[in-house]
Amino acid sequence: MTPPSISRRDLVKAGALAALGTIAGSGCSVARRTPTRRFAKVRVARDRVIRITVGLRPYRPSGFVVRAQRFGEKLVVHNYGHGGAGITLSWGTSDMAATLAMEAQPSRVGVIGCGVMGLTTARLLQQRGVAVTIYAKDLPPNTVSNVAGGQWSPVSLFDRNRRTPEFDAQLVKAARFSWNYYQRLSPAHHGIRWIENYALSDEQRTGTPDHPEIAALYADARLLEGNDHPFPTRYAQRFTTMLIEPSTLLETLTSEVRQAGAQIIVRELRSVEEVVALPEPVIVNCTGLGARELFGDQELMPIKGQLVVLLPQPDVDYITLRDRTYMFPRSDGILLGGTFERNVSTLEPNDAQVTRVLDEHTRFFERMRGA
Ligand SMILES: Cc1cc2nc3c(=O)[nH]c(=O)nc-3n(C[C@H](O)[C@H](O)[C@H](O)COP(=O)(O)OP(=O)(O)OC[C@H]3O[C@@H](n4cnc5c(N)ncnc54)[C@H](O)[C@@H]3O)c2cc1C
Repeated sequence: MTPPSISRRDLVKAGALAALGTIAGSGCSVARRTPTRRFAKVRVARDRVIRITVGLRPYRPSGFVVRAQRFGEKLVVHNYGHGGAGITLSWGTSDMAATLAMEAQPSRVGVIGCGVMGLTTARLLQQRGVAVTIYAKDLPPNTVSNVAGGQWSPVSLFDRNRRTPEFDAQLVKAARFSWNYYQRLSPAHHGIRWIENYALSDEQRTGTPDHPEIAALYADARLLEGNDHPFPTRYAQRFTTMLIEPSTLLETLTSEVRQAGAQIIVRELRSVEEVVALPEPVIVNCTGLGARELFGDQELMPIKGQLVVLLPQPDVDYITLRDRTYMFPRSDGILLGGTFERNVSTLEPNDAQVTRVLDEHTRFFERMRGA
Protein backbone atom coordinates (compact mmCIF):
# COMPACT_ATOMS: atom_id res chain seq x y z
CA MET A 1 0.00 0.00 0.00
CA THR A 2 1.34 3.42 -0.93
CA PRO A 3 0.66 5.78 1.94
CA PRO A 4 -0.84 9.17 1.19
CA SER A 5 1.79 11.83 0.75
CA ILE A 6 1.51 13.29 4.21
CA SER A 7 -0.34 11.13 6.65
CA ARG A 8 -1.28 11.85 10.22
CA ARG A 9 1.57 9.53 11.21
CA ASP A 10 3.89 11.32 8.79
CA LEU A 11 3.26 14.43 10.78
CA VAL A 12 6.41 13.57 12.63
CA LYS A 13 8.26 13.90 9.36
CA ALA A 14 6.28 16.70 7.77
CA GLY A 15 3.90 18.94 9.68
CA ALA A 16 5.38 18.83 13.12
CA LEU A 17 8.90 19.11 11.89
CA ALA A 18 7.84 21.75 9.49
CA ALA A 19 6.68 23.76 12.45
CA LEU A 20 9.95 23.03 14.15
CA GLY A 21 11.85 23.95 11.04
CA THR A 22 10.29 27.38 11.20
CA ILE A 23 11.22 27.70 14.82
CA ALA A 24 14.67 26.31 14.07
CA GLY A 25 15.07 29.08 11.52
CA SER A 26 14.60 31.56 14.31
CA GLY A 27 17.22 29.76 16.38
CA CYS A 28 15.17 28.21 19.18
CA SER A 29 14.37 24.68 18.03
CA VAL A 30 15.62 22.65 21.01
CA ALA A 31 14.17 23.20 24.46
CA ARG A 32 16.60 22.23 27.21
CA ARG A 33 14.25 22.89 30.10
CA THR A 34 12.93 19.84 31.96
CA PRO A 35 9.16 19.93 31.69
CA THR A 36 7.36 20.14 34.99
CA ARG A 37 3.95 19.10 33.74
CA ARG A 38 2.48 15.77 34.74
CA PHE A 39 1.71 13.15 32.09
CA ALA A 40 -0.96 10.59 32.90
CA LYS A 41 -0.39 7.27 31.14
CA VAL A 42 -3.09 5.78 28.95
CA ARG A 43 -4.36 2.53 30.43
CA VAL A 44 -4.39 0.24 27.40
CA ALA A 45 -6.15 -3.10 27.80
CA ARG A 46 -8.54 -5.13 25.69
CA ASP A 47 -11.21 -5.02 28.40
CA ARG A 48 -11.12 -1.19 28.34
CA VAL A 49 -12.16 -1.09 24.65
CA ILE A 50 -15.64 0.44 24.37
CA ARG A 51 -16.01 0.48 20.58
CA ILE A 52 -14.25 0.11 17.27
CA THR A 53 -15.22 2.59 14.57
CA VAL A 54 -14.46 2.46 10.87
CA GLY A 55 -14.75 5.22 8.30
CA LEU A 56 -13.81 5.77 4.66
CA ARG A 57 -11.80 8.91 4.03
CA PRO A 58 -12.84 10.59 0.74
CA TYR A 59 -9.37 10.71 -0.81
CA ARG A 60 -8.13 12.16 -4.11
CA PRO A 61 -4.41 11.81 -4.95
CA SER A 62 -4.43 15.31 -6.46
CA GLY A 63 -6.32 16.80 -3.51
CA PHE A 64 -9.77 18.17 -2.75
CA VAL A 65 -12.06 19.75 -5.37
CA VAL A 66 -13.58 23.21 -5.02
CA ARG A 67 -14.86 24.43 -8.37
CA ALA A 68 -17.99 25.51 -10.21
CA GLN A 69 -19.59 23.53 -13.02
CA ARG A 70 -22.56 24.51 -15.21
CA PHE A 71 -25.30 22.08 -16.15
CA GLY A 72 -27.48 24.27 -18.39
CA GLU A 73 -29.15 26.85 -16.15
CA LYS A 74 -27.98 25.12 -12.98
CA LEU A 75 -24.72 26.05 -11.25
CA VAL A 76 -23.14 23.23 -9.25
CA VAL A 77 -20.26 24.10 -6.93
CA HIS A 78 -18.18 21.13 -5.81
CA ASN A 79 -16.66 20.89 -2.32
CA TYR A 80 -15.46 17.33 -1.70
CA GLY A 81 -12.47 14.99 -1.51
CA HIS A 82 -10.78 16.13 1.71
CA GLY A 83 -9.16 12.78 2.60
CA GLY A 84 -8.05 12.70 6.24
CA ALA A 85 -8.41 16.44 6.79
CA GLY A 86 -12.06 17.33 6.29
CA ILE A 87 -12.69 18.50 9.85
CA THR A 88 -9.52 20.57 9.65
CA LEU A 89 -10.18 22.26 6.31
CA SER A 90 -13.97 22.48 6.44
CA TRP A 91 -14.47 26.20 7.09
CA GLY A 92 -11.75 27.09 4.60
CA THR A 93 -12.93 25.14 1.56
CA SER A 94 -16.58 25.80 2.43
CA ASP A 95 -15.85 29.52 2.40
CA MET A 96 -14.35 29.12 -1.08
CA ALA A 97 -17.41 27.12 -2.20
CA ALA A 98 -19.81 29.69 -0.72
CA THR A 99 -17.95 32.48 -2.52
CA LEU A 100 -18.26 30.64 -5.85
CA ALA A 101 -21.96 29.99 -5.21
CA MET A 102 -22.56 33.70 -4.47
CA GLU A 103 -21.20 34.69 -7.89
CA ALA A 104 -24.62 33.66 -9.27
CA GLN A 105 -26.28 35.97 -6.68
CA PRO A 106 -28.80 33.32 -5.59
CA SER A 107 -31.38 33.93 -2.88
CA ARG A 108 -31.58 30.18 -2.17
CA VAL A 109 -29.07 27.38 -2.48
CA GLY A 110 -29.34 23.60 -2.19
CA VAL A 111 -26.52 21.82 -0.37
CA ILE A 112 -26.12 18.09 -0.92
CA GLY A 113 -24.55 16.40 2.10
CA CYS A 114 -24.84 16.85 5.85
CA GLY A 115 -21.32 15.97 6.98
CA VAL A 116 -18.87 18.65 8.08
CA MET A 117 -18.62 20.09 4.54
CA GLY A 118 -22.37 20.36 4.01
CA LEU A 119 -22.99 21.92 7.41
CA THR A 120 -20.14 24.44 7.27
CA THR A 121 -21.12 25.41 3.70
CA ALA A 122 -24.73 25.87 4.81
CA ARG A 123 -23.69 28.09 7.75
CA LEU A 124 -21.44 30.27 5.62
CA LEU A 125 -24.17 30.70 2.99
CA GLN A 126 -26.72 31.60 5.66
CA GLN A 127 -24.32 34.23 6.96
CA ARG A 128 -24.39 35.72 3.44
CA GLY A 129 -28.17 36.03 3.63
CA VAL A 130 -29.05 32.98 1.53
CA ALA A 131 -31.86 30.49 2.30
CA VAL A 132 -30.48 26.94 2.40
CA THR A 133 -31.99 23.50 1.92
CA ILE A 134 -29.80 20.52 2.77
CA TYR A 135 -30.43 17.22 0.97
CA ALA A 136 -28.63 14.23 2.44
CA LYS A 137 -28.76 10.46 2.44
CA ASP A 138 -27.36 10.29 5.98
CA LEU A 139 -27.42 12.81 8.81
CA PRO A 140 -25.17 13.08 11.88
CA PRO A 141 -24.32 10.90 13.74
CA ASN A 142 -24.23 8.60 10.68
CA THR A 143 -21.67 10.42 8.50
CA VAL A 144 -17.96 9.83 7.93
CA SER A 145 -17.39 13.17 9.62
CA ASN A 146 -18.68 11.65 12.87
CA VAL A 147 -15.96 8.97 12.69
CA ALA A 148 -13.08 11.45 12.38
CA GLY A 149 -10.49 11.76 15.12
CA GLY A 150 -10.78 15.55 15.00
CA GLN A 151 -7.17 16.69 15.28
CA TRP A 152 -6.70 20.02 13.50
CA SER A 153 -3.98 19.21 11.02
CA PRO A 154 -4.09 19.43 7.22
CA VAL A 155 -2.45 16.05 6.51
CA SER A 156 -3.34 12.82 4.65
CA LEU A 157 -5.08 14.61 1.83
CA PHE A 158 -3.01 14.29 -1.37
CA ASP A 159 -0.16 12.33 -2.95
CA ARG A 160 3.11 14.20 -2.88
CA ASN A 161 3.83 13.42 -6.55
CA ARG A 162 0.50 14.99 -7.61
CA ARG A 163 1.12 18.31 -5.90
CA THR A 164 0.86 21.51 -7.96
CA PRO A 165 1.53 25.14 -7.02
CA GLU A 166 -2.15 25.92 -7.68
CA PHE A 167 -3.31 23.23 -5.26
CA ASP A 168 -0.74 24.30 -2.66
CA ALA A 169 -2.04 27.86 -2.80
CA GLN A 170 -5.64 26.67 -2.30
CA LEU A 171 -4.61 24.40 0.55
CA VAL A 172 -2.74 27.13 2.39
CA LYS A 173 -5.64 29.54 1.96
CA ALA A 174 -8.18 26.98 3.19
CA ALA A 175 -6.04 25.91 6.15
CA ARG A 176 -5.42 29.46 7.32
CA PHE A 177 -9.09 30.43 7.00
CA SER A 178 -10.22 27.34 8.88
CA TRP A 179 -7.63 27.75 11.63
CA ASN A 180 -8.84 31.28 12.26
CA TYR A 181 -12.53 30.50 11.89
CA TYR A 182 -12.47 27.69 14.47
CA GLN A 183 -11.07 30.20 16.94
CA ARG A 184 -14.09 32.46 16.47
CA LEU A 185 -16.47 29.73 17.63
CA SER A 186 -17.44 29.08 21.21
CA PRO A 187 -15.04 26.25 22.19
CA ALA A 188 -17.29 24.36 24.60
CA HIS A 189 -20.35 24.66 22.41
CA HIS A 190 -18.52 23.43 19.29
CA GLY A 191 -16.33 20.79 20.95
CA ILE A 192 -13.01 22.55 20.39
CA ARG A 193 -10.02 22.57 22.71
CA TRP A 194 -6.30 23.27 22.54
CA ILE A 195 -3.99 20.36 23.19
CA GLU A 196 -0.28 19.56 23.17
CA ASN A 197 0.79 17.07 20.50
CA TYR A 198 3.99 15.02 20.80
CA ALA A 199 5.39 13.65 17.54
CA LEU A 200 7.76 10.92 18.69
CA SER A 201 10.82 9.48 17.00
CA ASP A 202 14.35 8.24 17.59
CA GLU A 203 15.64 10.41 14.79
CA GLN A 204 16.04 14.13 14.79
CA ARG A 205 14.55 14.73 11.41
CA THR A 206 15.24 18.03 9.82
CA GLY A 207 13.03 17.89 6.74
CA THR A 208 12.14 21.25 5.31
CA PRO A 209 8.49 22.21 5.66
CA ASP A 210 6.10 21.28 2.89
CA HIS A 211 4.03 24.36 3.56
CA PRO A 212 5.87 26.83 5.77
CA GLU A 213 2.74 29.00 5.99
CA ILE A 214 0.75 26.10 7.45
CA ALA A 215 3.59 24.89 9.64
CA ALA A 216 3.87 28.33 11.16
CA LEU A 217 0.30 28.04 12.44
CA TYR A 218 1.17 25.27 14.91
CA ALA A 219 1.73 26.97 18.23
CA ASP A 220 4.40 26.52 20.87
CA ALA A 221 6.59 24.15 18.83
CA ARG A 222 9.68 22.73 20.56
CA LEU A 223 12.03 19.82 20.03
CA LEU A 224 12.50 17.97 23.33
CA GLU A 225 15.29 15.47 23.91
CA GLY A 226 16.12 12.71 26.39
CA ASN A 227 14.91 13.45 29.91
CA ASP A 228 13.07 16.56 28.83
CA HIS A 229 10.09 14.40 27.96
CA PRO A 230 8.65 11.18 29.44
CA PHE A 231 8.27 9.18 26.22
CA PRO A 232 10.31 6.08 25.29
CA THR A 233 11.82 7.73 22.20
CA ARG A 234 14.88 9.89 21.86
CA TYR A 235 13.02 12.92 20.53
CA ALA A 236 9.61 14.42 21.18
CA GLN A 237 8.56 17.20 18.86
CA ARG A 238 5.92 19.16 20.68
CA PHE A 239 3.41 21.53 19.14
CA THR A 240 -0.04 22.73 20.09
CA THR A 241 -3.11 22.56 17.91
CA MET A 242 -6.87 22.10 18.27
CA LEU A 243 -8.73 18.87 18.94
CA ILE A 244 -12.31 19.02 17.73
CA GLU A 245 -14.93 16.58 18.95
CA PRO A 246 -16.86 15.78 15.75
CA SER A 247 -20.08 14.65 17.43
CA THR A 248 -20.34 17.94 19.37
CA LEU A 249 -19.38 20.06 16.37
CA LEU A 250 -21.85 18.36 14.01
CA GLU A 251 -24.71 18.41 16.50
CA THR A 252 -24.19 22.10 17.20
CA LEU A 253 -23.91 22.98 13.51
CA THR A 254 -27.07 21.00 12.73
CA SER A 255 -28.98 23.02 15.37
CA GLU A 256 -27.46 26.27 14.13
CA VAL A 257 -28.41 25.72 10.48
CA ARG A 258 -31.94 24.72 11.53
CA GLN A 259 -32.30 27.74 13.83
CA ALA A 260 -31.24 29.97 10.93
CA GLY A 261 -34.09 28.53 8.85
CA ALA A 262 -32.52 25.68 6.87
CA GLN A 263 -34.66 22.75 5.87
CA ILE A 264 -32.94 19.37 6.09
CA ILE A 265 -34.41 16.77 3.74
CA VAL A 266 -33.35 13.15 3.93
CA ARG A 267 -32.94 12.13 0.32
CA GLU A 268 -30.39 10.30 -1.81
CA LEU A 269 -29.63 11.95 -5.15
CA ARG A 270 -29.00 9.17 -7.66
CA SER A 271 -27.94 11.02 -10.80
CA VAL A 272 -26.85 14.38 -12.17
CA GLU A 273 -30.33 14.66 -13.71
CA GLU A 274 -31.87 14.46 -10.23
CA VAL A 275 -29.47 17.16 -9.02
CA VAL A 276 -30.34 19.41 -11.95
CA ALA A 277 -34.04 18.92 -11.21
CA LEU A 278 -33.71 20.33 -7.67
CA PRO A 279 -35.63 23.62 -7.26
CA GLU A 280 -32.68 25.79 -6.15
CA PRO A 281 -30.74 27.54 -8.96
CA VAL A 282 -27.39 26.85 -7.26
CA ILE A 283 -26.35 23.54 -5.69
CA VAL A 284 -23.24 22.88 -3.60
CA ASN A 285 -22.03 19.29 -3.80
CA CYS A 286 -20.68 18.23 -0.38
CA THR A 287 -21.16 14.48 -0.81
CA GLY A 288 -17.65 13.35 0.20
CA LEU A 289 -17.03 9.89 -1.21
CA GLY A 290 -20.54 9.97 -2.70
CA ALA A 291 -19.26 12.32 -5.45
CA ARG A 292 -17.53 9.36 -7.10
CA GLU A 293 -20.82 7.84 -8.15
CA LEU A 294 -22.96 10.94 -8.33
CA PHE A 295 -20.60 13.01 -10.49
CA GLY A 296 -18.39 10.22 -11.89
CA ASP A 297 -15.14 11.37 -10.27
CA GLN A 298 -13.04 8.24 -10.76
CA GLU A 299 -10.04 9.76 -8.96
CA LEU A 300 -11.95 9.72 -5.69
CA MET A 301 -11.22 6.63 -3.61
CA PRO A 302 -11.79 5.42 -0.06
CA ILE A 303 -8.95 5.21 2.44
CA LYS A 304 -10.27 3.05 5.22
CA GLY A 305 -9.47 4.20 8.74
CA GLN A 306 -10.20 2.39 11.97
CA LEU A 307 -10.20 3.64 15.54
CA VAL A 308 -10.00 1.50 18.66
CA VAL A 309 -11.67 3.48 21.43
CA LEU A 310 -10.87 2.95 25.12
CA LEU A 311 -12.83 4.18 28.13
CA PRO A 312 -12.38 7.95 28.58
CA GLN A 313 -9.50 9.11 30.79
CA PRO A 314 -10.00 12.81 31.57
CA ASP A 315 -6.50 13.03 33.10
CA VAL A 316 -4.84 12.35 29.71
CA ASP A 317 -4.33 15.79 28.19
CA TYR A 318 -1.89 15.30 25.31
CA ILE A 319 -1.82 13.65 21.86
CA THR A 320 0.89 11.19 20.79
CA LEU A 321 1.85 10.71 17.13
CA ARG A 322 4.21 7.96 16.07
CA ASP A 323 5.19 6.46 12.72
CA ARG A 324 2.39 3.90 12.71
CA THR A 325 -0.04 4.96 15.43
CA TYR A 326 -1.65 7.91 17.17
CA MET A 327 -3.58 8.54 20.39
CA PHE A 328 -6.20 11.32 20.79
CA PRO A 329 -7.83 11.74 24.23
CA ARG A 330 -11.43 12.83 23.71
CA SER A 331 -14.31 13.18 26.13
CA ASP A 332 -16.06 10.22 24.48
CA GLY A 333 -13.03 7.94 24.74
CA ILE A 334 -9.31 7.52 24.14
CA LEU A 335 -8.85 7.06 20.40
CA LEU A 336 -6.10 4.74 19.22
CA GLY A 337 -5.64 5.04 15.46
CA GLY A 338 -3.15 4.80 12.65
CA THR A 339 -4.65 2.72 9.84
CA PHE A 340 -4.73 3.90 6.22
CA GLU A 341 -6.01 1.16 3.90
CA ARG A 342 -6.05 2.62 0.43
CA ASN A 343 -8.90 1.70 -1.88
CA VAL A 344 -10.51 -0.54 0.75
CA SER A 345 -14.22 0.11 1.05
CA THR A 346 -15.44 -2.38 3.63
CA LEU A 347 -16.69 -1.04 6.93
CA GLU A 348 -15.87 -4.33 8.66
CA PRO A 349 -13.28 -3.89 11.44
CA ASN A 350 -9.91 -5.42 10.65
CA ASP A 351 -9.00 -7.64 13.64
CA ALA A 352 -5.30 -7.79 12.79
CA GLN A 353 -5.16 -3.98 12.85
CA VAL A 354 -7.02 -3.88 16.18
CA THR A 355 -4.41 -6.21 17.69
CA ARG A 356 -1.50 -4.26 16.20
CA VAL A 357 -2.78 -0.90 17.42
CA LEU A 358 -3.51 -2.25 20.92
CA ASP A 359 -0.16 -4.08 21.20
CA GLU A 360 1.89 -1.12 20.02
CA HIS A 361 0.16 1.24 22.44
CA THR A 362 0.44 -1.23 25.32
CA ARG A 363 4.21 -1.50 24.85
CA PHE A 364 4.55 2.24 24.37
CA PHE A 365 2.68 3.33 27.50
CA GLU A 366 4.35 0.62 29.63
CA ARG A 367 7.72 2.12 28.74
CA MET A 368 6.65 5.74 29.24
CA ARG A 369 7.54 7.54 32.45
CA GLY A 370 4.53 8.93 34.30
CA ALA A 371 1.65 8.08 36.54
C1 LIG B 1 -10.66 7.10 11.00
C2 LIG B 1 -10.70 8.53 10.49
C3 LIG B 1 -10.03 9.52 11.17
C4 LIG B 1 -10.07 10.85 10.72
N1 LIG B 1 -9.43 11.79 11.45
C5 LIG B 1 -9.47 13.08 11.05
C6 LIG B 1 -8.85 14.09 11.83
O1 LIG B 1 -8.26 13.82 12.90
N2 LIG B 1 -8.90 15.37 11.38
C7 LIG B 1 -9.55 15.72 10.22
O2 LIG B 1 -9.54 16.89 9.87
N3 LIG B 1 -10.16 14.77 9.47
C8 LIG B 1 -10.14 13.46 9.84
N4 LIG B 1 -10.75 12.50 9.08
C9 LIG B 1 -11.31 12.87 7.76
C10 LIG B 1 -12.73 13.41 7.81
O3 LIG B 1 -13.56 12.53 8.50
C11 LIG B 1 -13.27 13.60 6.37
O4 LIG B 1 -12.36 14.31 5.57
C12 LIG B 1 -14.58 14.39 6.43
O5 LIG B 1 -15.48 13.77 7.30
C13 LIG B 1 -15.24 14.53 5.05
O6 LIG B 1 -16.43 15.27 5.26
P1 LIG B 1 -17.55 15.37 4.16
O7 LIG B 1 -18.61 16.26 4.70
O8 LIG B 1 -16.95 15.69 2.85
O9 LIG B 1 -18.10 13.86 4.00
P2 LIG B 1 -19.14 13.01 4.87
O10 LIG B 1 -18.99 13.22 6.31
O11 LIG B 1 -19.04 11.62 4.33
O12 LIG B 1 -20.55 13.60 4.45
C14 LIG B 1 -21.09 13.36 3.16
C15 LIG B 1 -22.57 13.66 3.18
O13 LIG B 1 -23.08 13.52 1.85
C16 LIG B 1 -24.18 12.63 1.86
N5 LIG B 1 -24.26 11.99 0.54
C17 LIG B 1 -23.30 11.29 -0.10
N6 LIG B 1 -23.76 10.90 -1.31
C18 LIG B 1 -25.03 11.37 -1.41
C19 LIG B 1 -26.02 11.30 -2.41
N7 LIG B 1 -25.81 10.66 -3.55
N8 LIG B 1 -27.22 11.89 -2.19
C20 LIG B 1 -27.46 12.55 -1.02
N9 LIG B 1 -26.56 12.64 -0.03
C21 LIG B 1 -25.35 12.07 -0.23
C22 LIG B 1 -23.90 11.69 3.00
O14 LIG B 1 -25.08 11.01 3.40
C23 LIG B 1 -23.39 12.70 4.04
O15 LIG B 1 -24.47 13.38 4.63
C24 LIG B 1 -10.77 11.18 9.51
C25 LIG B 1 -11.46 10.18 8.85
C26 LIG B 1 -11.44 8.87 9.31
C27 LIG B 1 -12.22 7.82 8.57
